[in-house]
Amino acid sequence: MVNVKQDLNKKDEKYVWHSMRKFDPEATMVVTEADGAWITDAEGNRYLDGMAGLWSVNVGYGRTELAEAAYNQLKKLPFYPLTHSHQPAIELGEKLNEWLEDDYVIFFSNSGSEANEVAFKIARQYHRQNGDYDRYKIISRYRSYHGNTIGALAATGQALRKYKYEPLAQGFLHVAPPDCYRSSFDSSDGTCCSQSASEIDRVMTWELDETIAAVIMEPIITGGGVLIPHDHYLKEVEEICSQHGALLIVDEVINGFGRTGKRFGHMHAGIKPDIVTMAKGLTSSYMPLSATAVKREIYEAFKGTEEYDHFRHINTFGGSPASCAVALKNIEIMEREGLVERSAVLGKRLNEGLMELIDHPNVGDIRSRGLLLGIELVEDKATKKPAHPDKLTNVISFCKRKGLIIGKNGDTVKGFNNVLTLSPPLNLTEDDLELIIKTVKEAIIQI
Ligand code: PMP
Repeated sequence: MVNVKQDLNKKDEKYVWHSMRKFDPEATMVVTEADGAWITDAEGNRYLDGMAGLWSVNVGYGRTELAEAAYNQLKKLPFYPLTHSHQPAIELGEKLNEWLEDDYVIFFSNSGSEANEVAFKIARQYHRQNGDYDRYKIISRYRSYHGNTIGALAATGQALRKYKYEPLAQGFLHVAPPDCYRSSFDSSDGTCCSQSASEIDRVMTWELDETIAAVIMEPIITGGGVLIPHDHYLKEVEEICSQHGALLIVDEVINGFGRTGKRFGHMHAGIKPDIVTMAKGLTSSYMPLSATAVKREIYEAFKGTEEYDHFRHINTFGGSPASCAVALKNIEIMEREGLVERSAVLGKRLNEGLMELIDHPNVGDIRSRGLLLGIELVEDKATKKPAHPDKLTNVISFCKRKGLIIGKNGDTVKGFNNVLTLSPPLNLTEDDLELIIKTVKEAIIQI
């Protein structure tokens, strides 16, 4: 077994360029199989995957139904471009419409980044279709992550991920995120989220609101430290967008498909975004697929009489038949097993179990909704000085030794990565959940 791992690690180092990290054969897991919420590496070690891959395997691993859906579709029709159409895309479009509880038309791509790029292009062209030629600016929040391509990275509010690739796409502006723990605004009277929303209003005015195309936001900023705003923040941003004639794009790449205990994260606030982007949980990551859902009235503006009135964006693999078939089956599983509701119920227990840590001297804040949770570690509760990176490494390694994978992120500027994260498969068992709570508690208590 060990030889297999060493051999694979050697070849891995030689041939595979990994994202985001230095090569470290000790830390690198070569994952060979997985089932439920558990993964197995090349040495036969099993780990409870507290991050569902990359916040994304929502229905859990080992779903033969999803493999069969792909296999059957590949046999029947492996590919045909969506310049024409095919049944799985049509059926999935209809299903997503039902899940979004409003009238949306769906554009399919392969990744979350692409779904956001599509949203930006649609927003810009939409305004031009309406004769608003000056509306091109997109506003997003610092600390957010929206993808790795030049436009999606420009929208991202994390300087460390961006500065080596600049100049990025033009016309992207950022405002402070709603962060109730470390608010950039006065948080003494509980209005910091409203103040954060007002900042968007001010920036639109200062920038000249007839130049603003759209605002993009995740309902909960995930990759920037699990920042959960009050629901009224989303409502206020929706109103501000509508007052200034800007579109509201909601990035549901992680928040969507039950992660927060509702089908989509924005549903907690009862808003109706103009555009919703989704990926990861759409297929539970069994196949690459993303979607940009666009309100019908926006879509209608693209039905002009000239060839250049159409949306001139073509994507070879986007909405491939097998990916759509897997997404349909994935959604069927979520409905059949009540996984969205399960996320809400188990999420409550996760929160309750880990809240016992709130008095620990190194725990600054615990934030969670559904099966999405962040624990912000600090050196000192009074000053909120972020915990030394060694403390996070210590907790993560402890969990791994006990057979649990957890993540970390935060405000990545200057390596300020002090938020431990959990985002397990929604079908984890109650025992799995208790194991997560027990292990994370032990890990933090022993810091
Ligand atoms: N938006 C958000 C909120 C994300 O978390 C991610 C990926 N982590 C993306 C967009 C980009 O998705 P992808 O990696 O599929 O391009």
